[in-house]
Amino acid sequence: MSERPGSGSDGHADTEIPTDQPIGDDVLPSEERTETAPTPKRVLVIQAHPDDVEFGSSGTIARWASEGAEIHYCSITSGDKGSADPEMTGVALATTREREQRAACDILGVTSVIFLGYLDATLVPDLNLRRELTRVIRRVKPDVLMCMDPTMRYTGKGYINHPDHVAAGEASLAAVFPSARDRMTFPELLDEGLEPHKVAEVYLFAGEHGDIWVDISGHMETKLAALKAHASQVAHWDPTEMIQTWARETTERHPDKPADFGEFSESFKHIKLD
Ligand SMILES: [Zn+2]
Repeated sequence: MSERPGSGSDGHADTEIPTDQPIGDDVLPSEERTETAPTPKRVLVIQAHPDDVEFGSSGTIARWASEGAEIHYCSITSGDKGSADPEMTGVALATTREREQRAACDILGVTSVIFLGYLDATLVPDLNLRRELTRVIRRVKPDVLMCMDPTMRYTGKGYINHPDHVAAGEASLAAVFPSARDRMTFPELLDEGLEPHKVAEVYLFAGEHGDIWVDISGHMETKLAALKAHASQVAHWDPTEMIQTWARETTERHPDKPADFGEFSESFKHIKLD
């Protein structure tokens, strides 16, 4: 069986990240669902690798940015293992992928991008990572934090989620609660002038428990353009059909969509902490 397009030598197949999976019996009572996500003021998006957000949730990012939200990206690694080219080096690939991520962010209307410089494929949700993410949250002060769903470990018969995705989601949630909120956790951050910050809402993407849907029909072209900015990952195949199919299937799973809901959507597990 030939290698799937876009999968790196480390078996890191970002192209296979589902935006959402069939939720089957695992659906919330209708009164717990929200049909329309309001536009946040300031968003921090945390991903494991460059392109994770472009595959999973960049339609929502493009929509929120177009509606006036201030969006900040934090990429924990720079994807230095995502190549099968024997001539490629990690440093060269990381440099390329950071440039590609900045280009994608320009297309989406993102305000800033932070790279934490962790090594690809070996990420663990330890206290150092939790402190780093807590520092970023206290600096950016987002009202919405978007990150990967750490409960997604495998799905169906043929997909194992990348452990970096699980680690990134786990560390992000732990940074939101309780570390960013609590004054006495990581007191060294206080010494840096970083006061506690309460994140109001969390949106988890690339998971199986979506309970909020965002209509991205007017932003599909922007999402695809941002994804194609990751040329080192997608230059040799066109992700359009796969991305549109995911987004169409996500809309089909919306249990009570409004009559004017569009063809394409992204869904998230939504947590409200206020
Ligand atoms: Zn990834």
